[in-house]
Amino acid sequence: MAARTYRPRTGKVDAGVALALGFFRMRLICLLNQCQHFPGFVYQKARLCPHSLIEIDVRPRRGSKPVCSGCHQRGTAYDLLGLRRFEFIPIWGFAVLLLYHMRRVDCRTCGVRVEELPWAIGKHQLTKTYMVFLAHWARKLSWTETASSFRTSWDKVCQAVEYVVAWGLEHRSLGPIRAIGVDEIQYAKGHKYLTLVYQIEQDCTRLLWIGKDRTVKSFEQFFDLIGQPLSEGIEFVCSDMWKPYLRVIHERCTNALNILDRFHIVAKMNDALDDVRAAEARRLAQDGYEPSRSSRKPGGACSSARPTSPAPNASGSATSCATTSRPCGPICSRRTSSNSGSTTPRHGPPNSSTTGATRPCAPASSR
Ligand SMILES: [Zn+2]
Repeated sequence: MAARTYRPRTGKVDAGVALALGFFRMRLICLLNQCQHFPGFVYQKARLCPHSLIEIDVRPRRGSKPVCSGCHQRGTAYDLLGLRRFEFIPIWGFAVLLLYHMRRVDCRTCGVRVEELPWAIGKHQLTKTYMVFLAHWARKLSWTETASSFRTSWDKVCQAVEYVVAWGLEHRSLGPIRAIGVDEIQYAKGHKYLTLVYQIEQDCTRLLWIGKDRTVKSFEQFFDLIGQPLSEGIEFVCSDMWKPYLRVIHERCTNALNILDRFHIVAKMNDALDDVRAAEARRLAQDGYEPSRSSRKPGGACSSARPTSPAPNASGSATSCATTSRPCGPICSRRTSSNSGSTTPRHGPPNSSTTGATRPCAPASSR
């Protein structure tokens, strides 16, 4: 398309091509006015350029006053700055640039300041719309793939994501939080972890916070962020048995039920059973009994008494319910302000007699 329709502005263009070009420009500006109309500004001209580029001139509407970037009030235009290019969403494989001479404002409050634009912020070369567009695709593709797909750079994709994240944090409403899940994720070789906290409620599942490391200090930053009233309002906390997490949950979520990861509970229980079995074997050997061949094997008679390990799809069901919020029959440890004992639940089979029948997720619990 570009090869057939593009002509240098100084060259001769036949009538048919000129008509097509005029039609194209009109349609493009109509489209822009439909989807991105900015009061006080006019899309003046659109032209095809080499290298699959569309440039669109933008000018202030006659009589419109610029907005001060300091106090956001309208003021008198002071002078014009050099031409700036703002990247807009590509169309049909063509990069789109908005070209605009920014004005300076003679503001009574702030003095002479650069005007504020409705389509861009600060010194960003990307329009706000394009940054939202890139950040949307950066959730589906890698940042490198996003940059190559839309003919921009990795740095600009990063800028777009930072812009959207900053906007989200600024407009975030934490609100009441009833249930959270905490888990760690390894992000590099060695013991390099991040702590992730999710809100896991039926009508709201979202990532609330990410912190570096998986220490008491790092996890406490989350509760410092949400404050004491919200912390004390949390009713359920899903976590694994990482001790720093258990400690912080015990100290900060004084009214919460701590739901522990079933995989770790079963692993601890199996370890305890192995200890008992080994002690029994030693005692029998001291009493002069000859251990049977089957009992020496890991899968022998003794091990057959072991409780059923996680289901065949253990890799799925045994993962932390904190991150999946699936009803996977977790084992709970009731935690109240009056419970000053250890935060680590006891090992061994969960005691069904202590099951809280009114608790929605307590097939087995230990107080
Ligand atoms: Zn001002």
